[in-house]
Amino acid sequence: MCRHLAYLGPPVTLRSLLCDPPHGLATQSWAPRRQRHGTVNVDGFGVGWYAPGDPEPARYRRAGPVWADPSFADLARVTRSGAVLAAVRSATAGTEPGEAAAAPFAAGRWLFSHNGVLAGWPAAAAGLAAALPPADLIALPARSDSALLWALTAARLTAGATPGEALAGTLAGLAAHRLDGRFNFLLTDGETVAATAAGDTLCYRAGPGQVLVASEPGDDEPGWAEVPDGSLLEATAAGVRVTPLGAWPGEQGTKETLTQAAGAGLAAANGRRSH
Ligand code: GLN
Repeated sequence: MCRHLAYLGPPVTLRSLLCDPPHGLATQSWAPRRQRHGTVNVDGFGVGWYAPGDPEPARYRRAGPVWADPSFADLARVTRSGAVLAAVRSATAGTEPGEAAAAPFAAGRWLFSHNGVLAGWPAAAAGLAAALPPADLIALPARSDSALLWALTAARLTAGATPGEALAGTLAGLAAHRLDGRFNFLLTDGETVAATAAGDTLCYRAGPGQVLVASEPGDDEPGWAEVPDGSLLEATAAGVRVTPLGAWPGEQGTKETLTQAAGAGLAAANGRRSH
């Protein structure tokens, strides 16, 4: 499982956001404190940030661990932004390695990250993938569960969904296809952040005119709030709202459906639960 983070607020350096906190995202690449699955996040990292006057974010991504990139440390020291999304990756088995599979994924003004796994990837995802136009499938940024989930979410955004609706819609689609896994998403357009807690840890800290949403706290200072599993978080720099998700793969009803399916001898469904 990866770790990820989004920030909205007064411009800060990437270094102060990602590298300086004692347990910040850079440290979480080798010593996460709350990660429930996996131990280290060394299969790539990425940062997307918004610069004044340009609605489309810049991205810096690499295939290796963040500590092995002295150029990033240098860049982070002098790059300032008031809207950032960053992630460190622990690749899921069967997914593509390399920079293209490192979050954040991007389209236009959007940045997206997925902390989790679509169980049974890639075979289990076939039905879900069929909902996408072939052109979108061909254009997937990487052969990974996260890239597919991003394409499904981006299609909803293009169709006019709000960020929260798009994330909730993707989760409802997974539940409708009886797919299991862990689906902590993070999505921003530089002005709003939407995130889901669906299988792994999620926290936030809100202050006057700023909000930090992260897989886990980057320090032991007060002010961090935990987001309960099965929640949708929607935030701007002015405030945070946390609401229960509707249909999502971890909800009780879906688990019961999967259990019944497995009990009926559906080996495929059973396999999807064994991760
Ligand atoms: N499944 C995604 C990937 O392989 C995310 C992995 C994770 O959360 N560790 O990149």
